[in-house]
Amino acid sequence: MDHVVVVGAGLAGVRSIEALRAQGYAGRITLIGQERHRPYDRPPLSKAVLLGETDSTVVDSDLDALDVRLCLGTAAKGLRDGVVETTEGEVDYDGLVIATGATPIRLRGEGRQHVLRTIDDAIALRERLVSGARVAVIGGGWIGAEVATAAARAGCAVTVIEAGETPLAAALGPDVGARTIPWYAEAGVELRLGAIVGTVDPGGVTLMSGARVEADVVVTGVGVRPAVEWLKGSGVELDDGVLVDEHLKTTLPGVVAVGDCANWWSRRFRRRLRVEHWDTALGAPDTAAATLLGEEAVYDPVPYFWSEQFGRMVQFAGHPSSGWQGPAVRLLWRGDPRTDAKWTVCWLTREDGLTALLTVDRPRDVVQGRRIIEGGRRLDLVKLADPAVSLRDC
Ligand code: FAD
Repeated sequence: MDHVVVVGAGLAGVRSIEALRAQGYAGRITLIGQERHRPYDRPPLSKAVLLGETDSTVVDSDLDALDVRLCLGTAAKGLRDGVVETTEGEVDYDGLVIATGATPIRLRGEGRQHVLRTIDDAIALRERLVSGARVAVIGGGWIGAEVATAAARAGCAVTVIEAGETPLAAALGPDVGARTIPWYAEAGVELRLGAIVGTVDPGGVTLMSGARVEADVVVTGVGVRPAVEWLKGSGVELDDGVLVDEHLKTTLPGVVAVGDCANWWSRRFRRRLRVEHWDTALGAPDTAAATLLGEEAVYDPVPYFWSEQFGRMVQFAGHPSSGWQGPAVRLLWRGDPRTDAKWTVCWLTREDGLTALLTVDRPRDVVQGRRIIEGGRRLDLVKLADPAVSLRDC
């Protein structure tokens, strides 16, 4: 292999290059990225950048030392017979890494709506989060909660509009999502649940019910779609992202996919996973690089994610609805979310195995819980229910 092309200059793209070099690949590498910025990290965009604590989140990687040809401001448009078609011409490859991430979903309507995916999005939004501004955040998911946190801290009058019965209901289910409801009122944020947005209009948002939410700033945080339009008709099979096997191989020889755009087969969870988390963009490239270099590597981690909401560190590991011992059938709480500031909730299988856990300001639980999910063992539920007992000893 003489020339590897990496499409997508985000974390997964950069990590793929580092992994290729670390694993001994000495041939040419070209990195194609449609943004004009050098690769940067996205988690701080909805945290430190929105809070005005930093303007730069550039990934700490020396691309010059890695001997990479960097093509920024260049978008891939298509793929055929060993050639990537880009806005700046054609690029031949004999190994290809697809790392194009995801694009935010926008809602209907003529009004201005902010989304939060790029550093430019974050800085444009931050400029409008001024004291007294009425801010409507559409979506009470991970991003919505973080935007609400920053907007409330900037002194804005914030309304979060959520279609589900609780925040985070889609990710965690309503029982767990309900425990976060009080966080909004404490932060002075109005939370409208079961409210479905029809259109974003000048001066606010119109709900399907006909009601209006007046707003100076509207932020849409209702999810993303894998950025894979450019692969249509290329022979790379697509279904909710790029379909890859457990080695991260696509259906085209010499082509792998990583990060938010990759939909991989997990042996551990006996299902496909497409995980839009930083840890996946960080970890999957080692396997993808090994696969490109002809090694037998498998990517099968326990997914991990964190979010900083209303002054709390929220961390999650696993998959609530499936584990190797079958799906979770019940929840067990370590600590009482109604009275304790710090708590954990565990998703348990019929055999008292752990498939997932969410922790609030209990970082040790998430580290130990992730290891338990990886190892797969029966837990002592009496000990588990006692937050003073270390998870490792349950
Ligand atoms: P991306 O970072 O999206 O990079 C893909 C790159 O490819 C982009 O630069 C894009 O412009 C480029 N691209 C797309 N199409 C093309 C094309 N056709 N041609 C060329 N280039 C193209 N995860 C956590 O675990 N914890 C958090 O707290 C957290 N917070 C987040 C906050 C925000 C605001 C966002 C947006 C994400 C957050 N995430 C968080 C998720 C995490 O950042 C992503 O999972 C991670 O960025 C995925 O990396 P990636 O390289 O796969 O994709």
